[in-house]
Amino acid sequence: MAKKKFKAESKRLLDMMINSIYTHREIFLRELISNASDAIDKIYYKALTDENLEFDRSNYYIKIDIDKENRILKISDTGIGMTVEELESNLGTIAKSGSLAFKKDNNLKDGYDIIGQFGVGFYSAFMVADNVTVISKALGEETAWKWESNGTSGYTLEECEKDLTGTEIILKVKENTEDDQFDDYLETYRLKSIIKKYSDFVRYPIKMDIKSTKLKEGTEDEYEDITEEQTVNSMVPIWRKNKNELTDEDYENFYSEKRYGFDKPLKHLHVSVDGMIRYDAIMFIPESMPFDYYSKEFEKGLELYSSGVLIMEKCQDLLPDYFSFVKGMVDSEDLSLNISRELLQHDRQLKFIAKNIKTKIKNELSSMLKHEREDYDKFYKSFGRQLKYGIYDNYGADKDMIQDLIMFYSSKEKKMVTLDEYVERMPEDQKYIYYATGESYDRIEKLPQTELVSDKGYEILYFTEDIDEFAIRMLMNYKDKEFKSVSSNDLGLETEEEKKEIEAANEESKEMFQFMKEVLGDKVKEVRISKRLKNHPVCIANEGEVSVEMEKILSQMPN
Ligand code: ADP
Ligand code: MG
Repeated sequence: MAKKKFKAESKRLLDMMINSIYTHREIFLRELISNASDAIDKIYYKALTDENLEFDRSNYYIKIDIDKENRILKISDTGIGMTVEELESNLGTIAKSGSLAFKKDNNLKDGYDIIGQFGVGFYSAFMVADNVTVISKALGEETAWKWESNGTSGYTLEECEKDLTGTEIILKVKENTEDDQFDDYLETYRLKSIIKKYSDFVRYPIKMDIKSTKLKEGTEDEYEDITEEQTVNSMVPIWRKNKNELTDEDYENFYSEKRYGFDKPLKHLHVSVDGMIRYDAIMFIPESMPFDYYSKEFEKGLELYSSGVLIMEKCQDLLPDYFSFVKGMVDSEDLSLNISRELLQHDRQLKFIAKNIKTKIKNELSSMLKHEREDYDKFYKSFGRQLKYGIYDNYGADKDMIQDLIMFYSSKEKKMVTLDEYVERMPEDQKYIYYATGESYDRIEKLPQTELVSDKGYEILYFTEDIDEFAIRMLMNYKDKEFKSVSSNDLGLETEEEKKEIEAANEESKEMFQFMKEVLGDKVKEVRISKRLKNHPVCIANEGEVSVEMEKILSQMPN
């Protein structure tokens, strides 16, 4: 049996691959299972056009076997198999993808479910194995072939025996070293959890022999150890199921299975878009704030799948910061992946999906605000601050997305109201949206500055968070109504006539005021008669548009 060498560049590529493309070693299993699933898909596509070929789903599966003693891990499939030529060209030449060629030969549009395209996934097996044997019998062939390699010096090919059409990938798992643990890949529970994590939604059953202890039949207290073949993947992802067949409970289970949060989500959104770019998404609006939400540790992002295979656990690009509380996943067949399938190029498809999702979330929140106000109040308590930050972010670039979603406490309603509700209620003669800033609602209520505005019958919004006034400044106005602090100099309450009266009175007492100003010196800028006080003898007003409270915050900020 002649030993063939990998081509020189192949060998270099292989070294590079093994050591650098993949950051998580455990993905070797994802790659081998994806190949097996591709191989079954190929029979399926062939059966669509070949009437002599039948596709009976029950004959197609992937099987994982462990032989701990001999350190063997075997991944078998009943897929299309490889001829000797294919073994040579697909596995003997690195970066040659038989799957990509298959897609081209069969005119399958890009994005068809077959996953392989780069021709490197197979070699990830060498991250955990120091020897790999592939035994394959191609569809319609009489003989089977065995390909074997230690990954560095080349490979051998010889004829061998195999009953069923399909492929077996046999890994001789590396021995543990001081720095590296490989024993794990011979443990059923570990392999099962890797399958669950990356390959749960592969369309064909992934089977394993699983040991358990069961009550012996016919007895009441005698137990026996049995080994049962079990399917470990759930196959059909919930997001591919028909929405009408899913209950709230199904979604809630998914939420907790995925550990998106420990609370019960307030809302779920199930989106299936079938346009130029196809994608499915399930997203949740949580009720309570994760404990680290407003800390540096918190990472936003949605899970990203490509044709049912997990690519990224937290894809940040899918969510704007102001919707960072949203949990969930996106699955698309139309993503352009880079070679390691771990990272995405920042491509147009992803941007498109992100933009789409942003609007869906906004619409969902708007509808919740309108139709499920109690839930919205709960949501807002947890995440309202983040929305307000969102207005301030990027110099208000996305304020239109958010301004209808924010709420403030109202002096009139004694509860949280939206800007829209405020403006709708404004009397005709009211020019501004008034707000008052302070530490708490109680404190604000006692502010002398609120008196005049309230007496006019106008509503005042209470700002108690640092971000409030900053966000409002970024908005400038809402539905053409400007915002006005109750502590600003010109409240816009007097009629023209009243204004003249005050001017005249000020003029009359000019000398006295000048004397007062001299006594008080720099402590005040000006002393004048005001109509703004009723029960309080004096108050401090500010000249510009910035409220006294905001001035306080600004003066505390490091320069
Ligand atoms: P990719 O999947 O990106 O094409 P891989 O390195 O994972 O690259 O696999 C290389 C090629 O080897 C595949 O394209 C396919 O033609 C072939 N192949 C690998 N595993 C199998 C398998 N289990 N059954 C049939 N063909 C396979
Ligand atoms: Mg592959």
